[in-house]
Amino acid sequence: MIVRADALEALASETFDVVVVGGGITGAGVAFDASTRGYSVALVERADFAAGTSSRSSKLVHGGLRYLQNFDLGLVREALLERQLMVALAPHLVRPLPLVVAAFDGERPDRRTGVGLNLYDVMSVERLRRPARPRLRGRDSSAPSPPQARDPSEWSPERHRVISGEEVLELVPALATRAPTSGYLFYDCQTDDARLVLTVLAEAERFGAVCANGVEVTELVRTGAGRAAGVRVRESSGGAEFVVRAANVVNATGVWADRLRPQELYDEAEVPRISPSRGTHITLRHEDLPLAAGGAIVPAGGGRTIFALPWLGRTLLGTTDNDYGGALENHHVPPGAGDIEYLLDATNKYFGTNLDAADLTGAYAGVRPLISTGDPKKSVDISRKAELYETSSGMVTITGGKLTTWRRMAKLAVDRLVEREARDAPCRTHEIPLGAPVAVADLPQVAGVPEGSYAALAGRYGHAAHDVLAVARERAELAQPIVGDLPDLLAEVVYAARREQARSLGDVLLRRTRLGLLAGREIAAGGDVARRIAGVLAAELGWDDAALGGALRDWAAEATAEGVVGSA
Ligand SMILES: Cc1cc2nc3c(=O)[nH]c(=O)nc-3n(C[C@H](O)[C@H](O)[C@H](O)COP(=O)(O)OP(=O)(O)OC[C@H]3O[C@@H](n4cnc5c(N)ncnc54)[C@H](O)[C@@H]3O)c2cc1C
Repeated sequence: MIVRADALEALASETFDVVVVGGGITGAGVAFDASTRGYSVALVERADFAAGTSSRSSKLVHGGLRYLQNFDLGLVREALLERQLMVALAPHLVRPLPLVVAAFDGERPDRRTGVGLNLYDVMSVERLRRPARPRLRGRDSSAPSPPQARDPSEWSPERHRVISGEEVLELVPALATRAPTSGYLFYDCQTDDARLVLTVLAEAERFGAVCANGVEVTELVRTGAGRAAGVRVRESSGGAEFVVRAANVVNATGVWADRLRPQELYDEAEVPRISPSRGTHITLRHEDLPLAAGGAIVPAGGGRTIFALPWLGRTLLGTTDNDYGGALENHHVPPGAGDIEYLLDATNKYFGTNLDAADLTGAYAGVRPLISTGDPKKSVDISRKAELYETSSGMVTITGGKLTTWRRMAKLAVDRLVEREARDAPCRTHEIPLGAPVAVADLPQVAGVPEGSYAALAGRYGHAAHDVLAVARERAELAQPIVGDLPDLLAEVVYAARREQARSLGDVLLRRTRLGLLAGREIAAGGDVARRIAGVLAAELGWDDAALGGALRDWAAEATAEGVVGSA
């Protein structure tokens, strides 16, 4: 990405066609789409890229089987088509994942689930009518993607099928004590949400967008006639205030969307309000709940289910879904203690385990930007549709939706700009690759880098893994893993600071790597790991001892506010 100081200079001095407020997946998507259509684009994010909901999801690129229960057929269909497209455009980052709904005691797998899966299969058929070509059938999620996988018709999942108890156990060994007798096998896709945001932003920058984190929009700047003409911003480290001038303003601030000029939003009778809903996830050591190549759908009482998913070497469990009335002044949303208990309970009941809070390797929570329609139903029943509205100043707000449907949301917002300016600028994002995949075997060996790190780098950075390995070659220390049993390298800390605008331990631990979610105890504030990372960042960012101490204190505060396990 562009160096942050250069981005700030450009933001303060240039005039843009579009300024995007918010650096989650929606804002990143809008910046990408608009810049590929020839607009000059600025994007400002008040905290860090993906610091909001976009680093706190279940990491699934999916249609959402459970939304079929609400007959949200359009939403599911749209998301399934996007799923297929994402695998083609970012095969290193969005990968097929087998999922299992197990049956026990010789019973047939649940018929209603089968009906839903049939519908899911039918809805995920390819949209592009092309000559038939061999498909990558339900590819192993751990296998690297072939570099040539660029054609949307290349991946489409096998139809769901009934598998034997043995096959269930091959995919989900954690069910061994339950001795499953059969199960449904179907496919969805999995990603690293924060890395997806960073990848989309990097693509936006390749098309000329200027993006900066730590830049908060404090108010809309308007012309004498009341039209939006830019935004007033405050830079977080020095507190400098300036105006980013732009002909169009897109508000992509997710759950905070109704805080930017609320009077304008609320004046418009038809504008719906955000109704936040918190979702908590926990992570466990693979050995404590082993999932091989597949995930499981786990009943969690009251007709609800949670996912148990293999993710970055750990087991990820979630999510809960409850109305959230807590503070949203900043992006820190702690996991609910009751939610953690609920997830552990459901897990122990289903897998026959005896896990408790001491076994967690991490926990995190996020808040969904659900749109309130005034319907008294619980948030869990509100549709996840995206909402676009243009208010009196001409500001375009785009919120709601899902991680999976980011490209469609971005298109919706940019189409609106194109229409009102009567430009001839069709959307192209369905055909532009997001980064470039790399074969693990093509990466150069670097002394000291553990064998397991190469596949992890290829999955996270694609071809840019070459650049991370070049950093690892600079000094022996940088080739080492950050945390003993996980593949992330210290070189990634350097890369994050140099190339991805990381400015704090939180940026590195929560969003460039995902160690804050996977190794809560090891990275706890005051520990060796935090000090090592701070040392590496200090060398890159020119911190003196006082700044280094301040960075460690900031991390301690952030880890506590985030509810990172082991930090309290
Ligand atoms: C628990 C949970 C699980 C989920 N799981 C999935 C899933 O598996 N698959 C899926 O498809 N979807 C999932 N979702 C939904 C998905 O994560 C969200 O829809 C998506 O991330 C929202 O992205 P966004 O960019 O709109 O919002 P955000 O990611 O929240 O981005 C908004 C950004 O705006 C910034 N901002 C706010 N105010 C200002 C300001 N004044 N100036 C500058 N910047 C500002 C914030 O800091 C933030 O970074 C899940 C959601 C939750 C909560």
